[in-house]
Amino acid sequence: MGRYLNSSCKLCRREGMKLMLKGIRCETSKCPIEKRQKNIAPGMHGWRRSRGTDYGVRLREKQKVKRYYGLAERQFIRYFHKAEKTKGNTGEVLLCLLERRLDNVVYKLNFAPSRKTARQLISHGHIYINNKKVDVPDFTVSIGDKISVKPSEKSKKRIKTQLDTNPNFTAQSWLQLDPNTPAATVVAMPSRQDVQLPIEEQLVVEFCSR
Ligand code: SF4
Repeated sequence: MGRYLNSSCKLCRREGMKLMLKGIRCETSKCPIEKRQKNIAPGMHGWRRSRGTDYGVRLREKQKVKRYYGLAERQFIRYFHKAEKTKGNTGEVLLCLLERRLDNVVYKLNFAPSRKTARQLISHGHIYINNKKVDVPDFTVSIGDKISVKPSEKSKKRIKTQLDTNPNFTAQSWLQLDPNTPAATVVAMPSRQDVQLPIEEQLVVEFCSR
C-alpha cells in the first residue's frame, strides 16, 4: 500500500486547519497554520483558494477525516462501508469507528505524541491488548479491552517519558488510564463529542454515497 512521504504540514495547509500530525511541533508557534503568511494551500497558486463547488466542499471534508486518521483511500472506503451497514447515523458511526483504531487510542492516551508515532510503537510490538502483543495499528478496540505496554524496561521507560511531558494530562472519559503501570481500559464506546475534529460528517457521507 502506498504511503504518503511528503511534508505532513502540506496536508494541513491544503485543508486550512490543524490536523495535529506532527506531535509537539503542532502546539508551538512553528506550526505554519499559526503564521498568516504561511497558512496558504501548497503549490504555485495556493494563495488563490477557490470558493469551492458542492463536490469540492464535500471532497475536502472527506480528505480531512482521511488525513487526520492517516488512512489510505481504500482503508477509508472500507470503514465507510462498515459504517453504512451499522445501525445509526452513518457519519457519526464512521467517526466513532475510526476513533476506536488502536493507533488513535494510543495517541489519545498520550502514549505517543502523534498518530504516526503511535503506529510505529504498535508495529514495533510495544503495545499489548489483553496481555497479548498486537502489532496491527488498525486493530479496533472494544469495551473491556486492556491496553498495556510490553513488559520490558525499554518499552515502559519510553511510554513513561512521553507521559511525563504532560503531567496534567487526563484521558477522555471512554478510556480509563493508569499512568503508573502504564495501562488503560476501554470503559465505553467513544461518542461524537470525543472526536475532536471540527468537520461536517454529513458532507463526508454525501461524498461517499454519490
Ligand atoms: Fe504541521 Fe502540525 Fe501545524 Fe499541521 S498542525 S501544519 S502537522 S505543525
